[in-house]
Amino acid sequence: QRREPPLQDLGSMASATDSRYGQKESSDQNFDYMFKILIIGNSSVGKTSFLFRYADDSFTPAFVSTVGIDFKVKTIYRNDKRIKLQIWDTAGQERYRTITTAYYRGAMGFILMYDITNEESFNAVQDWSTQIKTYSWDNAQVLLVGNKCDMEDERVVSSERGRQLADHLGFEFFEASAKDNINVKQTFERLVDVICEKMSESLDTADPAVTGTKQGPQLTDQQAPPHQDCAC
Ligand code: GDP
Ligand code: MG
Repeated sequence: QRREPPLQDLGSMASATDSRYGQKESSDQNFDYMFKILIIGNSSVGKTSFLFRYADDSFTPAFVSTVGIDFKVKTIYRNDKRIKLQIWDTAGQERYRTITTAYYRGAMGFILMYDITNEESFNAVQDWSTQIKTYSWDNAQVLLVGNKCDMEDERVVSSERGRQLADHLGFEFFEASAKDNINVKQTFERLVDVICEKMSESLDTADPAVTGTKQGPQLTDQQAPPHQDCAC
């Protein structure tokens, strides 16, 4: 008797297929803006889980292999606009800090992630922030995310420290859980809103040709946006 593969396998097969045909999807021109978004941070903080939760609404309790996956595409409606998000996940290169500059090119937004149960991942945030500032467009927007806030018992980084670091770096801050689906959608939507705000500021003040599909002019407003409290 033939055994059906477990549903979870079917799910991951579908995901792999999505990614492989990402190119085809991205040739769909039916959108107002396209934003390239990167998720970065130390290995095992939950970047891939966070992306799968958002793009596929799934969570796998095992280490998610990112080999071969480049990005996932998700189109959302926001501010009366159809916005296509091209969300990139590293394929494990973060372990060796060998993320190439090409990977950063054209990114409009970053989710810089640490794990609230892992001090080292929090200590690395400053380095990742420096990388972003070195390799990306000056006005790329960054949200700092403390992931795994479902693991309160094992927390070693308080919300307060996370918020203070975000303040210091000029980023907005969320605590989130890819596992329990806390603040995942909110993180992406806030990032999109912040990118849109920057874009409309630049439309008001400068080049009318600026769109989300290419790099815009240098913006000057570096004010830190308000913080969001953790919903945990
Ligand atoms: P990456 O290396 O940053 O891509 O991290 P992964 O997404 O592969 O996750 C590393 C491990 O952390 C896996 O075992 C995940 O199941 C687990 N993980 C990811 N996000 C969460 C979360 O929000 N809560 C908990 N409890 N575990 C998580
Ligand atoms: Mg990964």
